[in-house]
Amino acid sequence: NLGATWAKAWIRTSADVMSEHRVELINLDREIGDGDHGENMDRGFQAVLGKLDDLPADAAPGDVFKLVATTLISTVGGAAGPLYGTAFLKAAVAVAGALELDGAALVALLTAARDGIVLRGKAELGDKTMVDAWTPAVDAAAAAHEAGANDLDILIAAANAAEAGAVATEPWVARKGRASYLGERAIGHRDPGAQSSALLLRAAADTAA
Ligand code: ADP
Ligand code: MG
Ligand code: MG
Repeated sequence: NLGATWAKAWIRTSADVMSEHRVELINLDREIGDGDHGENMDRGFQAVLGKLDDLPADAAPGDVFKLVATTLISTVGGAAGPLYGTAFLKAAVAVAGALELDGAALVALLTAARDGIVLRGKAELGDKTMVDAWTPAVDAAAAAHEAGANDLDILIAAANAAEAGAVATEPWVARKGRASYLGERAIGHRDPGAQSSALLLRAAADTAA
């Protein structure tokens, strides 16, 4: 079972990963957006990093996610700030009070995060957004849990599906966000938010190992 130590490690690793992939995400967003996605994610997660140590020693995973949500909403801006902020806020509510997350709680967390993104951004599957990473991840996590997988394997299934989902956005036209203004010119480019979502979910699996 995964507790606050894992939740904090996930977020710390995500901050490192967003820094490492800052230029990659900027370049993806330069192709089909305004080129700031790597900057936005890096700035947001660095801000979270600065606040993680202020959490009380007995903080639950939900408290960690709530802190991530409020910090991303106040520091990231653009489309991704409110979308990821809502994702973490809904995830926090889904696991509120739990000190340790079992497989069912992990599936509930991922589902709530995805539902938050959809509630906020109204994107459907195939619109070439971060939803195209999250929904396959939720489905894969639920299937793994149904099949009796442990926490780690649930998160690995989610990360693998998110990565495949991000790659799958490449040939598509975008129907939401800035990339939707490009029409056919978005074809051949991976959605930056789907890519950052895959990075985030890979960090979740890596820190559970
Ligand atoms: P901005 O477009 O304001 O510069 P970012 O570059 O940080 O914001 O984030 C862009 C990403 O946000 C896109 O790649 C896409 O994944 C995601 N996105 C944009 N609009 C939506 C939406 N309505 N629903 C889901 N995701 C969206
Ligand atoms: Mg952008
Ligand atoms: Mg922008």
